[in-house]
Amino acid sequence: MKFLADLHIHSRFSLASAKNTTFESLYIAARIKGITVLGTGDFTHPGWIKELKEKLFLDDNNLYQLKDKIANICESFIPQACKGLIRFLPTGEVCNIYKKNGKIRKIHSVLLLPDFKLVEKLNLKLEKFCKIESDGRPILKLDVINLFEIVLGISDRAMLIPAHIWTPWYSLFGSKSGFDSIEDCFGDFSKYIYAAETGLSSDPDMCRKVSGLDKITLISNSDAHSPSKLGREANIFNTDLSYESITSAIKSCDPKKFLGTVEFYPEEGKYYADGHRNCNLLLMPKDTEKYGGKCPVCNKNITVGVLHRIDDLSKNAKKKKHLFFIKPYLFWKFSQRFSNPGAIQRKYV
Ligand SMILES: [Zn+2]
Ligand SMILES: [Zn+2]
Repeated sequence: MKFLADLHIHSRFSLASAKNTTFESLYIAARIKGITVLGTGDFTHPGWIKELKEKLFLDDNNLYQLKDKIANICESFIPQACKGLIRFLPTGEVCNIYKKNGKIRKIHSVLLLPDFKLVEKLNLKLEKFCKIESDGRPILKLDVINLFEIVLGISDRAMLIPAHIWTPWYSLFGSKSGFDSIEDCFGDFSKYIYAAETGLSSDPDMCRKVSGLDKITLISNSDAHSPSKLGREANIFNTDLSYESITSAIKSCDPKKFLGTVEFYPEEGKYYADGHRNCNLLLMPKDTEKYGGKCPVCNKNITVGVLHRIDDLSKNAKKKKHLFFIKPYLFWKFSQRFSNPGAIQRKYV
């Protein structure tokens, strides 16, 4: 069946979340917005996982459903036209902060696990590296490769997906504390990176300019910190409602199973353009270059945004390839459009 899934959200246990981000209000908002599969968010938080265990049960397809007692209360708030199935998939976000190749790295990742038993096993391991109860999105002073090792050690059905990959301060390709390629960040574990989250300030069309993402499925989620923001970005699947079907559709990027994404206008994203927040300055990439990367008001460094960063990384790749084989590169790029379904991933607005 065709359905919408929003796999990256937060609970009231995450810093900067609205107080009304309760389980019940998330459930009701998801139904009103037509979301069938909702990531639980914040599964590393002991308070949230306790509540999820009280209110949900694991069905035969390895997704969670609401227990009748809670469902009856919530259903009375859902308009008749919005009634329908809803399933929960265990997800959480973590932030790795560490030094690599002489630079401080800050990387956010979304984690998917098939059940709460495995989540609790993971949490026991993560507790050694952070105060797990202090934030729904804990900070781990650990290389993201070591985190990946731990996650796959818990279950080979787990997934780690780099979150909002262009955000300047906290992401895989972020201009301030990220890397220039998946391989630079994940090394030998790159082969287990099947997907990346575009974030609000970019969309699949923009990301596809970067050849390093050719084999990667581009997913989109709301990263909501309040119920009203659920589904502002989401994924369109055409599979049965099971953990295995959803994760294998992401892994394969089969266009019959992963139909595309619902997108926010990237231009309205917080990090689309370059700028300097303290000086209320917003610049397009060519202007940043004109000013030599320094804020014309205070002379501090300009924060390079998503558009500029995508431009830089796509130019880098082109430069390298054009140097040695211009024609084979064009042929390769052309054939990619047919051999790699990700390259023709559709965008739904
Ligand atoms: Zn994040
Ligand atoms: Zn400034």
